[in-house]
Amino acid sequence: MKRNAAGWSNWSGSVKASPREVLLPVSIDEVTTAVLRCRQEGRRLRVVGSGHSFTAVAASDDMLISLDQLQGIVEVNPEAGTATVWAGTKLKRLGEELFGHGLAQENLGDIDVQSIAGAISTGTHGTGRGLGTISTQVVGVTVVTGQGEVLACTAESHPEWFKALQVSLGALGIIVQVTLRLRPAYKLEYVSSRMPLTQCLQESVRLAEENRHFEFYWFPYADPCQIKRMNETDMPPSNRKVRDYIGDVVVENAVFGLLSGICRRVPKSSAVISRLSASQVPVGRKVQYSHKLFATARLVRFNEMEYNLPAEAMVPAIEEMRETMARMKFRVHFPVECRYVRGDDIWLSPSYGRDSAYIAVHMYKGMPYEAYFATMEEIFLRYGGRPHWGKLHTLNSGRLKERYPMWEAFHRVRTNLDPDRILLNPYIEKLFDA
Ligand SMILES: Cc1cc2nc3c(=O)[nH]c(=O)nc-3n(C[C@H](O)[C@H](O)[C@H](O)COP(=O)(O)OP(=O)(O)OC[C@H]3O[C@@H](n4cnc5c(N)ncnc54)[C@H](O)[C@@H]3O)c2cc1C
Repeated sequence: MKRNAAGWSNWSGSVKASPREVLLPVSIDEVTTAVLRCRQEGRRLRVVGSGHSFTAVAASDDMLISLDQLQGIVEVNPEAGTATVWAGTKLKRLGEELFGHGLAQENLGDIDVQSIAGAISTGTHGTGRGLGTISTQVVGVTVVTGQGEVLACTAESHPEWFKALQVSLGALGIIVQVTLRLRPAYKLEYVSSRMPLTQCLQESVRLAEENRHFEFYWFPYADPCQIKRMNETDMPPSNRKVRDYIGDVVVENAVFGLLSGICRRVPKSSAVISRLSASQVPVGRKVQYSHKLFATARLVRFNEMEYNLPAEAMVPAIEEMRETMARMKFRVHFPVECRYVRGDDIWLSPSYGRDSAYIAVHMYKGMPYEAYFATMEEIFLRYGGRPHWGKLHTLNSGRLKERYPMWEAFHRVRTNLDPDRILLNPYIEKLFDA
């Protein structure tokens, strides 16, 4: 266990903290000992995954626990089609290890650097009208509660606690193992194309229904948007060369980084650069095993707000965003990412009780985002929006409570599992009014 304190910041650099103590436990016992010590000493602790949330949700100025030393598969149950994995496992490693057992996750988000526990704790999602958030893949968790007890929890053993633990913001305990429902490894064909935004909005319901995965990126002030579709295939994986990697990852990120730098220095160039980026969207197709295809490299840093809306609000919300942007002329060149996700029954999941649209707005690191995000947030809220737990928003407990039917039930579980409030930080306190 490492006990050296170190300065900490999240991926975007927007949140900084100075933990008094940083621990990297190598066993469940060490996690339990740390929790019990915090209780005895009246201290606070937070657990961090990969620090890829845009808010202070994982920040700690007291004890910070990372499960980076607890990674990998614990056991696979081929009959049940499940695997139990250490909660600190990064998604990339998880995909590779599962593939070694002929298994795969049914869906993933845009990147694969998060830890599995961090991803599920904020309701991280990909896209797919018929597919839920990553939390819906969870069929069991083992957690060290705020009381220092080790609890193995499933929908059958502890129905209420399980529904609370599937998206729990690190507020109920430290998840040490996660059991995932998986499927046999599969290949996807990825197709990227361009389409005028008006046509995309007209066809979005059909495209979402016809494709296993469908999403679109709308570049502010530009006409063409990027359409991404992925469907299962038996075709052989594309023979990608180093040259393709350099084109897709290195050049794409480097050029976008360069253009973003221009926008930061000359903000009024943002609309032109957004249109230029839209016109250069890569068009093409490739086939690969799913765990290699979902993630893209995000080398250009940004800040982000993302809201979940009822699925049917996607088109009217985007139309309103487009009109508002034309009027307000926000200086933004980062595309708006639009995805669909199946509804679920997880208490704090933004997709609770409804098939959902997710709309994400981004701003290049170092450029002011407050006015743009605040205006877009007003639109999202009018359509019944619920914020992504890992991304920026301005809601407090009062407004969140109205949007989550199971808010009070979650609060009761929190009080049960963390009676001494050791798992709170100022951000979580404000969120839960705790
Ligand atoms: C470039 C980028 C791309 C992204 N793409 C997507 C996307 O496609 N889809 C999407 O939905 N989100 C996306 N996100 C958001 C990201 O998936 C979430 O913020 C996620 O929670 C980050 O995981 P993490 O491991 O970094 O967790 P952290 O940010 O470190 O922590 C998140 C929460 O999980 C809790 N936590 C971590 N480990 C544990 C544990 N062992 N037990 C209990 N609680 C724990 C923390 O306390 C905290 O509350 C993206 C973020 C970035 C920066």
